Amino acid sequence: MRIGALEAGGTKMVCAVGNERGEVLERTRIPTGAPAETIAAMTDWFRDKKIAALGIGCFGPIDLRRASKTYGYITTTPKPGWAHCDIVGAFRRALGVPVGFDTDVNASVLGEVTYGQARGLQTVLYLTVGTGIGLGVYVNGQLHHGILHPEGGHVLLRRHPHDRWQGRCPYHPDCLEGLASGPAIEERWGKPAALLVDREEAWAIEAYYIAQALTDYICVLAPEQIILGGGVLHQRQLLPLVRSETARLLNGYLAAEALQDMDAYIVGESLGGDQGILGCLELGRMEWEQNQKGVHDGRA
Ligand code: ADP
Ligand code: ZN
Repeated sequence: MRIGALEAGGTKMVCAVGNERGEVLERTRIPTGAPAETIAAMTDWFRDKKIAALGIGCFGPIDLRRASKTYGYITTTPKPGWAHCDIVGAFRRALGVPVGFDTDVNASVLGEVTYGQARGLQTVLYLTVGTGIGLGVYVNGQLHHGILHPEGGHVLLRRHPHDRWQGRCPYHPDCLEGLASGPAIEERWGKPAALLVDREEAWAIEAYYIAQALTDYICVLAPEQIILGGGVLHQRQLLPLVRSETARLLNGYLAAEALQDMDAYIVGESLGGDQGILGCLELGRMEWEQNQKGVHDGRA
């Protein structure tokens, strides 16, 4: 079966066609411009690809409540033109196939549990640290949504004693995304994060912030594994610092065997950057399967 996958990001759209075995057969990138033109370019690309379903992993916030009038919409994004955009409806109408939909980070964690190192695990988190910070949450074998979807990038943190910089989240002076995203690092130090390899203090502060968030996620959700991705993790020195800082903050309180081996517990992504697109394939496959059973159209 041929399945479409769309990783919808604020700067680019990655479109792919693959199958239910997780093989990507072809792909393309389309820059994210105005919604009408961008969606038209994508539907044109998918139109003759003979896909049975499409899965979309999308930047947010998005509406994932099936019963909502605005299910499948991008809701309140500051991205010009994209607020209140019916992205799922646009693809359904243009392609006439079932469309699976979730956050970009939920797609990434789904990719890792379906095809990557987290196969067989039931409770796994995926944190991306890039232009923004987002948390994908897979709990008891299912992607978690709750009232909206997790916004683990906006957890509030205790300040590093040496950090006097004000933060850049318009909503929270001390949240993870505002203090630790790639652009936050660049603003704090006056240089892109990629050029700060030798600034030890920068990475000590970064690890302190990420580790605080991980400590809180671990205490609340007790995940079996935490996967870190995103551009900032290209800094190879960061992951070991995050592991040791998380262990320090947990301070031996949780007597779980998984926490004895932090190298296996807090890990980088395992699919060569394809965790998101493979998760989108799986979202498409799952939606196709639900559709066969008539689950979402009132026939069940
Ligand atoms: P996005 O979050 O936009 O989907 P990425 O996860 O690739 O995409 O994140 C891009 C951000 O990651 C850049 O804005 C930059 O701040 C940061 N980044 C990219 N490469 C590096 C690097 N080598 N070292 C540190 N930070 C990086
Ligand atoms: Zn915030």
